[in-house]
Amino acid sequence: MDRPPRPQGVLKTGEPPASVPAGLCATCVHARVLKSDRGMRFYRCSLSDTNPRYARYPTLPVVICEGYENSAECGVRSAE
Ligand code: SF4
Repeated sequence: MDRPPRPQGVLKTGEPPASVPAGLCATCVHARVLKSDRGMRFYRCSLSDTNPRYARYPTLPVVICEGYENSAECGVRSAE
């Protein structure tokens, strides 16, 4: 007998959530990486603290951003 299809958007128990590539935030000096108890990774933009044009938690992946500054070029460790 065939099993019924699993509903879309529902994770199997214990299954880790799919990761979303962070885009520019992954190498930006302004990114702060937060990890949840369930292993999910969130990128917080520190520019949002002083500039309302930037979202606190940008929609990933970020592909264009005026505030982007490469952490390697600034001599700062990567956000990863
Ligand atoms: S400035 Fe742009 S690229 Fe850098 S952390 Fe904020 S949203 Fe991401």
